[in-house]
Amino acid sequence: MAVPLYIKVNEKDNVVIAVNDIKAGTELMQGVVAGQDIPQAHKLALSDIPAGKEIIRYGVIIGYAVRDIKKGDWINETMLELPVPPSVDAMSYGTNLVKDLPEPPVRTWEGYVNPKGGYAGTRNILGINTTVQCATSVVNVAVERMKRELLPKYPNVDDIVPINHAYGCGVAINAPEAKIPIRTLRNVAKHPNFGGELMVVGLGCEKFTVDMLLDEADRSPDNVIILQELKGFEAMIEELMKMADKKLAKLNVRRRVTLPLSDLLIGMQCGGSDAFSGITANPAAGYASDMLVQGGATVLFSEVTEVRDSVHLIGERCVDEAVCRKLADEMKWYDRYLENGEVDRSANPTPGNKKGGLSNIVEKAMGSIAKSGTSPIVEVLSPAEQPSKKGLIFAATPASDIVCGPCQLASGIGLQVFMTGRGTPYGLALAPVIKVCSRNDMKDMWSDLIDVNAGIIASGDATIPEVGTVLFNKIVDVASGRMQSQAEKYKLHNDFCLFNPAPIT
Ligand code: CA
Repeated sequence: MAVPLYIKVNEKDNVVIAVNDIKAGTELMQGVVAGQDIPQAHKLALSDIPAGKEIIRYGVIIGYAVRDIKKGDWINETMLELPVPPSVDAMSYGTNLVKDLPEPPVRTWEGYVNPKGGYAGTRNILGINTTVQCATSVVNVAVERMKRELLPKYPNVDDIVPINHAYGCGVAINAPEAKIPIRTLRNVAKHPNFGGELMVVGLGCEKFTVDMLLDEADRSPDNVIILQELKGFEAMIEELMKMADKKLAKLNVRRRVTLPLSDLLIGMQCGGSDAFSGITANPAAGYASDMLVQGGATVLFSEVTEVRDSVHLIGERCVDEAVCRKLADEMKWYDRYLENGEVDRSANPTPGNKKGGLSNIVEKAMGSIAKSGTSPIVEVLSPAEQPSKKGLIFAATPASDIVCGPCQLASGIGLQVFMTGRGTPYGLALAPVIKVCSRNDMKDMWSDLIDVNAGIIASGDATIPEVGTVLFNKIVDVASGRMQSQAEKYKLHNDFCLFNPAPIT
């Protein structure tokens, strides 16, 4: 099959996307000739667009022409003015509740039952929580020794992961927004992959205390080591090794069992997006998400700044007024957060996004929400909150890859699906990350880093449901431990960058 020259997403669009680089003078269709060289994934005008008139992609106005654009012209990011963001007050809700979702090929997976209840684990990991960055140096030395000397004794344990972070002291611990980093650390300690085993290392004089991290029932010498109470470095390492040995022995008896998909919680995000993300990788992820939801699983999607400009489309999918109101509250919170920093949503996209043909945040947002599929939205979470419902959930987080990841981990995801157009080696230590790329060139470039290539949708070699089904099966296989994702195989782990919107002192 011949690869198409361009893709038109919606009948109403007055632009198309170049599937590959297009040379100036190429005739795309009757009467439309490329006015300049058009880079891959960039937009080309299908008609004359006078200054001030709408530029339409995905059937929506992504911007207004800042100067006259001729039919066949390349439209890059300098040529659009941002439209006003949609109001979040009086959004309609419940008007687009899709019931007809694709049937999943399987409805079970193999996971680790969480002894504390809730979602099941996808991996069996000893997590070592810290109350403060000051403890990190000692913990890291100990963890290296644990991996060398202890882990080989416990073949059913996958890994030992320290939760090192920048929080804990020198922070305004009573600031209203401190609840976000505190909630993140409290919830991540309860991550399903840690099997209910708690190991906490504190310094002893920090602001974020063990009492703030752990519930009362969990605060015991069996779970907590305070470095200032120990006589020197060697004693610290010895205590850490002793506690880890006990915890590892308990974790080692965990076994996978067959579970319904309703015990699986996964997250979705994208990063390093391009103009193909919204027509290949994200819609395929949306299809897989719909299958998971139909099978009873819970799927989180996030990234507030990438939802903000298409929020009215999300609102219509909220199951009731309370969910829609919380969606509006999270958007307003973020509007204010950006305002306080004297920026607005145009601070997203990145230079790489623009090079990849994404002119502005409206265009990026329309592509970004495609990953949420079509399912009704049953709940909206504040950053790092844990879900109380099953189904599709909007979990408010920053769009920053390395901050969205820890927020979703705190919400309890056992796996993350990550869509990319430009490519990033991103990965998480606590849960496997499956990488989906938007272009065939990306797969060729990084064949050993990409798990699923959705670029074959743009080249006409597969449909969205076909790639979506491949992705669904990959999600179930990786969650079940039958295979590893590429990032997991190479141990590509980003730092645990928690979201702290509160002041540092
Ligand atoms: Ca992201």
